[in-house]
Amino acid sequence: MSRTVYVNGQYLPEEDATVSIFDRGFLMADAVYEVTSVLDGKLIAYDGHVERLWRSLKELDMAAPCTPEELLDIHRELVARNGIVEGLVYLQVSRGSDGDRDFVFPSSDTKPTLVLFTQNKPGLADSPAAKKGAKIISIDDIRWGRRDIKTVQLLYPSMGKMMAKAAGCDDAWLVEDGHVTEGTSNNAYIVKGGKIITRPLSNDILHGITREAVLRFAAEAQMEVEERLFTIEEAKEADEAFTTSASAFVMPVVEIDGVALGDGTPGSVAPRLREIYIDEMRKSAI
Ligand code: PLP
Repeated sequence: MSRTVYVNGQYLPEEDATVSIFDRGFLMADAVYEVTSVLDGKLIAYDGHVERLWRSLKELDMAAPCTPEELLDIHRELVARNGIVEGLVYLQVSRGSDGDRDFVFPSSDTKPTLVLFTQNKPGLADSPAAKKGAKIISIDDIRWGRRDIKTVQLLYPSMGKMMAKAAGCDDAWLVEDGHVTEGTSNNAYIVKGGKIITRPLSNDILHGITREAVLRFAAEAQMEVEERLFTIEEAKEADEAFTTSASAFVMPVVEIDGVALGDGTPGSVAPRLREIYIDEMRKSAI
């Protein structure tokens, strides 16, 4: 069945939705995005995603396409029109098009392009993949230096997932100067002696909205958290590991570069954090 999507002020059947071939999102990856999950037909962690979107826009000197309130209405309208109970809403803002290709930004009165669509994901919360845990490989982090901005430059993360797939694994962790930065589309954590270790925030990683919530819930549950760099060798010797992201919540990692962590099953910390996260998100969903 065709989805209803949103493009620049209009709700349209997906097959009728179009964007200019001169759009800078298409030609230059000059666009930012957000992904907000839906549980019980409601948006989770919405405020964090909108705040980060405004930060990304500001960092790139890109105009906001509408107000945060209008954006919330569009999210809710799409969830309702598409009958999404569990799934997600993808949002993208590009610098728009002034009808030609040029490296120079178009004039400031060029309208940004705003696109939103839903993805139906039944079983998002009760995920079989999370029960099994993910097998990951490590690869070099060769992305640009402003990973704190959520741009649509996703070719290398996409290639990383393909490398993982070719190795019979689920995902890849990125390594720079010997230290793990993050996953292809998630933040990375290890657990050693009950302590949760994750890289501190900087321009090297995306400031995950799920990361912020999970670290808060971990502290509230009296779990010890240390924000510091860790190497891939240290990760292979960890008791447990996991990733966090808006669309996969807390995902246990059971194997890194062919080395099983602990007994090769999800362990106790990651599944517990996943449960707390989902419970709390259901309570605060809007
Ligand atoms: N790091 C990267 C590179 C990502 O692409 C993502 C999500 O897409 C994350 C981390 C996790 O961020 P969030 O929890 O806000 O989804």
